[in-house]
Amino acid sequence: MEGDSAKANLSLGKRGTRGVPNQFYRNAPWRHLHKRQLEKQPLCEHCLQKKILTVATVGNHIKPIRFGGEPLDENNVMSLCKSCHARKSAIERHMTHWTG
Ligand SMILES: [Zn+2]
Repeated sequence: MEGDSAKANLSLGKRGTRGVPNQFYRNAPWRHLHKRQLEKQPLCEHCLQKKILTVATVGNHIKPIRFGGEPLDENNVMSLCKSCHARKSAIERHMTHWTG
């Protein structure tokens, strides 16, 4: 088997949201978009698909930034409750590429 070349990004192995500066989530443009999203859709969209009504508390990128999602496109943001957000994030952490 070839392709055993060590990747050069070992030293960049920060914990948390890979490739997305935490600073982004503290910036005004994201906070405004986040607030607008929760005003527009105050219910968790994942729970809604299962016909469960849950208050959303988190605005989440549908396509994560690290997979090339638009950070500030309101069409790339959905409302999630805390548990759906945790589950979505956990799944995305194990993804190596975005399958949509
Ligand atoms: Zn939910």
